Amino acid sequence: MTPIKQFPYTPILGWSASRFDTFKTCRRRYFYTYYAKFDREFPLSKINQLKALTTIPLETGNIVHDVIKALLERFQKSHARIDLPKFHDYTRKLTGRYCEKPFAEIYYQEISRLNVDEIFENVRLCLDNLLNSPRFHWLIQNAIATRDRWIIEPPGYGQTVIKEYKAYCKVDFLFPVGDKLYIMDWKTGKADAVKHHKQMLGYAAWAAFHFGHDPESIDPVIAYLKPDYTEDALHVTRADIDGFAKIVKNETLEMYSFCADIEENIPKEKGLFEKTTLKVFCDYCNFRELCREKTAAGP
Ligand code: SF4
Repeated sequence: MTPIKQFPYTPILGWSASRFDTFKTCRRRYFYTYYAKFDREFPLSKINQLKALTTIPLETGNIVHDVIKALLERFQKSHARIDLPKFHDYTRKLTGRYCEKPFAEIYYQEISRLNVDEIFENVRLCLDNLLNSPRFHWLIQNAIATRDRWIIEPPGYGQTVIKEYKAYCKVDFLFPVGDKLYIMDWKTGKADAVKHHKQMLGYAAWAAFHFGHDPESIDPVIAYLKPDYTEDALHVTRADIDGFAKIVKNETLEMYSFCADIEENIPKEKGLFEKTTLKVFCDYCNFRELCREKTAAGP
């Protein structure tokens, strides 16, 4: 497989599904997430501290992704069967390590301590479901022959260009079987067809661009790992990729409209980045302390 093209650094913002999702959810959260150094209201160290908070669902996903990555990389080196007790032991140790991170649930006093065993059981359920899935057996039988061409969470941010716009699309696992390129994306949360299909189209566009592959021979598969293993397999057409490029353009232009300097990615004044009025987003937001502080101090 051709090496992934690298791009020289430019400060201009790059579209990503998660960036636009944050932008849509709450402009203030978007400001804190991407433009913290321009904030004049709160110390950068405080914003960064809140930004660094993880959550139980997020970290469960991180652990599962990292264990699957290690598992696939191990399959690239060896055909030997998985030693399940060792595999679970490795996973438990990794879970313990990841649980040392600062968690929003503790910071905001929703819980007094993490239940590491419960997190591990959730991680284990996801991994066991994958290992017992028909897809995993199919993978071992059909994809192992091309294991030197597997791309498993490529390093970096997955920068690409969609039409002329910078974008970031980072695949979990891409591999060829026959004349097809498969893209697998592991999900540990609930299904969200609209959001996840859009994300997968991004991955297909990325793969078509970097490997010059016919988009219609790229098969993105969303693998939901719990409560049971289920899949959502997409059939991508050239029209989908063209439609996706238009979405990226429109969403990028929307985000550009909040820049005072687009090329340098300097934001307009913070006041224009309004707080959401939908409280449901605030309940899970890392930055709620900053918004509450302001409220407590008065209008
Ligand atoms: S707490 Fe609410 S208003 Fe404040 S940044 Fe987060 S989502 Fe936006």
